[in-house]
Amino acid sequence: MISQLITYIYFFLIQIFPALGGEMGGILAQQQRFPKPEFETGYTQPSPTTPEPRLTAWEYIDVSVLVLVMSLAAWFALKRRSRKGLLWLSVFSLVYFGFIREGCVCSVGSIQNIALTLFDPAYAISIPIILFFTLPLLFTLFFGRVFCASACPLGVIQDLVIIKPLKLPQWLRKTLGLIPYIYLGLAVLLAATSSEFIICRYDPFVGIFRMGAEFSMIILGIAFLLLGMFVARPYCRFLCPYGVLLGWMSKFSRFHLNITPSQCIQCKLCEQSCPFDAIDKPSEKLSVENKKLNKRRFSIFLLLIPVWIILGGFSMSKVHSFLSKAHPDVYLAELLIEHPELKDDPENIDIQTFLSSGKTMEHLVEEAKLVKQKYFTGSWILGCFLGLAIGVLLMNQYVLRRRKDYTPNKVDCYSCGRCMDYCPVRPTSNLRKMAEGESATAKNEKGISEKTN
Ligand code: SF4
Ligand code: SF4
Repeated sequence: MISQLITYIYFFLIQIFPALGGEMGGILAQQQRFPKPEFETGYTQPSPTTPEPRLTAWEYIDVSVLVLVMSLAAWFALKRRSRKGLLWLSVFSLVYFGFIREGCVCSVGSIQNIALTLFDPAYAISIPIILFFTLPLLFTLFFGRVFCASACPLGVIQDLVIIKPLKLPQWLRKTLGLIPYIYLGLAVLLAATSSEFIICRYDPFVGIFRMGAEFSMIILGIAFLLLGMFVARPYCRFLCPYGVLLGWMSKFSRFHLNITPSQCIQCKLCEQSCPFDAIDKPSEKLSVENKKLNKRRFSIFLLLIPVWIILGGFSMSKVHSFLSKAHPDVYLAELLIEHPELKDDPENIDIQTFLSSGKTMEHLVEEAKLVKQKYFTGSWILGCFLGLAIGVLLMNQYVLRRRKDYTPNKVDCYSCGRCMDYCPVRPTSNLRKMAEGESATAKNEKGISEKTN
């Protein structure tokens, strides 16, 4: 059933990629046809901070590779239950999407392109970017976070350096878990107002993938990897904005990886196996009194959600002016108002470019005002979103979920497959028959005892 579904999705997607047709070979041959010019003046070409533009055909190839990798990851996680398969697949993705493709285009950063295209009709987004954004979410909705397991180079590079993962207390994990919501909200706000793509700018691993980014970014990447030896996947868990969306999708995933291939025998061997603390234990039975207390607290936190939303919106609206400085027009207008003498500084490229554009100061100030208005509205929405996230997080502490077995937490589980290897239960038909036989016997016995009573 699962392998059939993966095959259908794969072939459907292959059908819709027209660029993979027969003309592709000819198109590819034309990429980088012309060598870069050499200057006699001593000028040297600067090394780019983003990858060289590539032909659309290559982008469709990337999408195909992404689909293939996610399909295989779903197969390894759900059907073959192979950690080894997932591991080798993730190494391939790291090499291809990370070092060869230089981490661009990536699904994490595509959030910003989507936000910009929704708010700026002049921005034309390409189909491959839309696919990079939507396909991992679609796969997650069906199979859990198989994208994080084996396709995302940012996740994989951290996964490969885990040495001795520490257990973090729940309160710390939950608190730090709010950062991705803030990062997601800010990234959308800044992209929607055409200010900046902060996810790309502060991607900690891009410096390592490109081997030529700013020195500070390479240091940041190394720092994350060093931290990741002891705090597993720190970027994924406490920063990744795309992880927020993937978590939402995974919560409703139709087929999700299970620790045991059959029935959980409560041996507890898998309990400590997850480096990301993503295994939920069987729930404890609460006394009637505790249940009542729990219900009361749940109702209080539920009623408090609107308060959090309004509080969040109000607080964020107070910092909209500060946030708007991320937009070049606002930054330049305020700089020139505060320091008019800078107009005479030939070294300041931003100001000299503005002066030579022929725009008047009044025009610049007017544009900056409009941007600030957008930021005011955007900050309110961002604050409400964050207030809602905090409110739901607090309320969720008191949601009672009945669990009989050790199960992966669908939101936090990266489908890495480590825990599966710890489970001593084997998917043999004998075991299943035994289990089925036992439960049938138990049912019979129950029926007999009910009749007797
Ligand atoms: S959480 Fe984010 S960075 Fe980590 S693997 Fe998933 S998408 Fe990639
Ligand atoms: S598959 Fe999920 S629950 Fe199991 S070890 Fe990996 S992240 Fe943890």
